[in-house]
Amino acid sequence: MIITQKRKVDELKDNIKDYKSFFLIGCSECATLCATGGETELTAMKESLEADGKKVTGTFVAKTGCQVLGTKVELKPMKDNIAEAECILVMSCGAGTQSAVDLYPDKPVYPTNDSLFLGNMTRLQMFDERCSLCGECILDKTGGICPVTACPKGLLNGPCGGTNEGKCEVSSEVDCAWVRIYNRLSKINRLEDMEQIAKPKNWAAHRKPMSLNAREKKPAKE
Ligand code: SF4
Ligand code: SF4
Repeated sequence: MIITQKRKVDELKDNIKDYKSFFLIGCSECATLCATGGETELTAMKESLEADGKKVTGTFVAKTGCQVLGTKVELKPMKDNIAEAECILVMSCGAGTQSAVDLYPDKPVYPTNDSLFLGNMTRLQMFDERCSLCGECILDKTGGICPVTACPKGLLNGPCGGTNEGKCEVSSEVDCAWVRIYNRLSKINRLEDMEQIAKPKNWAAHRKPMSLNAREKKPAKE
């Protein structure tokens, strides 16, 4: 999931100071789990805007805000409310915000959140970054733990000389990723994988912007 946090109130207020009316779009997926763009947060934002003398023409929590066509269909019944608003506030991630930019190209659209990382929710509203979207996954070689993300140096062969009693030299709060990998490989009887020297990573696979057409290709006619 995409981990988001609310933008600083001053920044947001400065962004929207020229507008008097707003339509709010949240997201029922990641932003709801992050408590940045679910029903509760939309209600709080509406009340805050109204307390500042602004008008809220409507609010809507999209099922999946980064799904452009699905969001377009969902928002159809709200078209008059959206037309009435001078500005759209999107309370999800940067991808959700850009869905709204696609759908309403003539309206100002502003994010209320900062998008931080791709992560896992480990407990309620506690998140860990687990994948840096490197484009060429090596979890098959590391017992399923990602050193590109979990090791501050992104070492592909580790641990480095700084590991100390299972902790990382960068922070004693952080477990050394390569000790975790060792322990994991040991548990699954794959310690021999530690002896494989990883080749330099192809960082070209991490290029931006990326796009993917995952539609099944039709077989070529013979
Ligand atoms: S190796 Fe790359 S794709 Fe795989 S989990 Fe790590 S960052 Fe993500
Ligand atoms: S101590 Fe471990 S996690 Fe920290 S930089 Fe070295 S190998 Fe990476």
